[in-house]
Amino acid sequence: MDYEVLVIGSGPGGYHAAIRAAQLGKKTACVEQEYVGGVCLNVGCIPTKALLHVAEDLREAKHAKSYGIDFGEPKVDLKKLEAWKSGVVQKLTGGVRSLLKGNKVDLIEGRATLKDPHTVQVGDRSVTAEKIIVATGSEPIEIPGFETDGERIVNSTGALLVSEVPKRFLAIGGSAIGLEFSDIYHALGSDVTVVELMDEIVPTADRDAAKELRKSFEKRGIKILTSTKALNQKKTADGIEVTLERGGERETLVVDKILVAVGRKPRGTGLGLEEVGVTVERGFVPTNAHMQTNVPHIYAIGDVTKPPLLAHKAMKEGIVAAEHAAGKPAAYDTIVPAVVYTSPELASVGMTEQEAKDAGHKVRVGVFPLAASGRAMTLGVSEGLVKVIGDEETDLLLGFHMVGPAAGDMVAEAALAIEMGATLEDISLTQHAHPTIAESFMEAAEAAHGMAIHVANKRRR
Ligand SMILES: Cc1cc2nc3c(=O)[nH]c(=O)nc-3n(C[C@H](O)[C@H](O)[C@H](O)COP(=O)(O)OP(=O)(O)OC[C@H]3O[C@@H](n4cnc5c(N)ncnc54)[C@H](O)[C@@H]3O)c2cc1C
Repeated sequence: MDYEVLVIGSGPGGYHAAIRAAQLGKKTACVEQEYVGGVCLNVGCIPTKALLHVAEDLREAKHAKSYGIDFGEPKVDLKKLEAWKSGVVQKLTGGVRSLLKGNKVDLIEGRATLKDPHTVQVGDRSVTAEKIIVATGSEPIEIPGFETDGERIVNSTGALLVSEVPKRFLAIGGSAIGLEFSDIYHALGSDVTVVELMDEIVPTADRDAAKELRKSFEKRGIKILTSTKALNQKKTADGIEVTLERGGERETLVVDKILVAVGRKPRGTGLGLEEVGVTVERGFVPTNAHMQTNVPHIYAIGDVTKPPLLAHKAMKEGIVAAEHAAGKPAAYDTIVPAVVYTSPELASVGMTEQEAKDAGHKVRVGVFPLAASGRAMTLGVSEGLVKVIGDEETDLLLGFHMVGPAAGDMVAEAALAIEMGATLEDISLTQHAHPTIAESFMEAAEAAHGMAIHVANKRRR
């Protein structure tokens, strides 16, 4: 055998698996067909977060007028912005290359297909391995009638290249990707509409949190059309005429650019997996808790296994697969935080109120509005909330949902609390520094017991 562990794909899942396998002394290779670092580093998490930071700066500059600082009308140099964003991506992907090299992982560039259960073909090279970890990720879903042309109708990759600011921008899909780009284009000056098929944006989020984010988007003038379907489009000289269907009624919307962000599909087919006996279901590769497929020496991790399609889930699964492949008793058994990096951010971990009820819990809910937070006021923030869900009988924290500044960082405390089996009382008893946004978590836990200090207590069950 050429290698003890061979990883297909170098995204967050793949490079974590390869590095950990090498750290555990395994002779390891990683195959990549397109870009080292995968979707997250090249066309996903990192470049979107860079643009969202710019959007935040633009909004802050405008907002500063309300407390006496006028920076004037911002001028955005799109070429410079692109160069900066690409620079961030290059630095990080270059970093992953050096990390692979530093850990003595052989990087094999090319497209991998399985020839037999232990042989992977890359171009004209056959590579054999004792264990194989599949980390091939996912790609955008297209919708019929809205085929992307890379210019006027784009997917997330196309939307990342802001060569001009469209006057009218439409996002089809009101989840993380659609909302993050809506935030970016609106801050750059586009008139933005979001169309979502379900009756609320971010359908996987807690309803109160999603509503709060929606309120904030609408307040700044972003139009959100829920329970609405984009039916078809026609390109005209004046723009793109989109037909929408809402409550049985049809209406037309004319825009200049459309982002299709209705979800992503796993890349589990076309690799030869099924041919060597690995089960593939609608493109996903099912695994057990050790990340093994039904063929025990072939593992799968990340977007190709199952939702949620998130980078940190892929990373953790990569570590589990590598450790198990190296003979350790590793298993994946953790809760997954989720963050929408808009301004304000929406972050959550654990169960939504509805999920807790559906699971048979008698729930205890505490909400703390950021309007009552001194720290939020000093930051000029008047919207947002922290909502905690606890179990009435055991007082265990079941879920945390937040809309507000740095919610994505705040969610780490809640994830730790749930992992450690913390009760709402444990959170109330933990002294939080004042004034901080983090105090809102403590006060939400207190509110769940009707004991918050900075808000009138409405106990909800
Ligand atoms: C616009 C956008 C923003 C996002 N923002 C966030 C965020 O902020 N936070 C978050 O957690 N997640 C985010 N995500 C999701 C995140 O990018 C993915 O969950 C993550 O990249 C999945 O990692 P992965 O290792 O499973 O696969 P990928 O990152 O998809 O990597 C798979 C790699 O495998 C390679 N490959 C595929 N087939 C083969 C083959 N046959 N041979 C060789 N190589 C192959 C591909 O070229 C690719 O490089 C975002 C996604 C998008 C699109």
